[in-house]
Amino acid sequence: MRRPIIAGNWKMNNALAAARDLVRGLLEQADDISEVDKVIAPPFTALLSIKEILRGSSIKLAAQNIHYEEKGAFTGEIAPAMLEEIGCDYVIIGHSERRAYYNETNETVNKKIFSALKHGIIPIVCVGETENEWERGVTREVITNQVAGCFADLSKEEVAKMIIAYEPIWAIGTGKTATPEQAQEVHTQIRELIARGFGSEAASLVRIQYGGSVKPENTAALLSQPDIDGALVGGASLQIDSFVEIIRETARLTV
Ligand code: PEP
Repeated sequence: MRRPIIAGNWKMNNALAAARDLVRGLLEQADDISEVDKVIAPPFTALLSIKEILRGSSIKLAAQNIHYEEKGAFTGEIAPAMLEEIGCDYVIIGHSERRAYYNETNETVNKKIFSALKHGIIPIVCVGETENEWERGVTREVITNQVAGCFADLSKEEVAKMIIAYEPIWAIGTGKTATPEQAQEVHTQIRELIARGFGSEAASLVRIQYGGSVKPENTAALLSQPDIDGALVGGASLQIDSFVEIIRETARLTV
């Protein structure tokens, strides 16, 4: 069985004081939940401070974005080596908000994956269809394209250690959730695409999270599906109680 992984994407929320409070609360309540990999993705300005608070704990740190160039004239961007220096363990790449508002494409996602891996940072790569694509019944095609574009030229070893987050865009921050069966169907498709492109070992090792209005009440149903290995959580990761409860629900499924 793959080890479950729950990641909280704080997006552009929580300045330093709030970020520190949230993470201290998480440490108190979730540090000792050993059955689940736990990751938080605070904004850039809080990364260093949060890393210091997390030192020695079981909770890992993620950035919400990375640039694919090593350095240079890219005003406002953050280089991979800067995230490595802080000690980021993971980085979210290709979130639908970045694709929608900052022109992120499968090609830039692909380049970012390479630069993260080069710096020892594990990518959490987001894929997912829009509401319009969902309604038109073209989810399979969209996912096939995203997987082909995002993971082009990676080795099977690289793919095996990555995290993929399937996030139907119509379910992000909307309170709508894919049913466990709908999510499982897409996760199966993603695993099959990975098997076809990178072999069955990579497909059985790669962890695929579901994201889109995950909350404590729907965690068990979603994560008990065989190909759902965790969750990427937005809104519910901003409250200690709900995020901890999602982690606890996940841990319960492992016994
Ligand atoms: C997200 O932004 O990755 C996300 C899944 O958000 P929410 O949980 O709020 O839908």
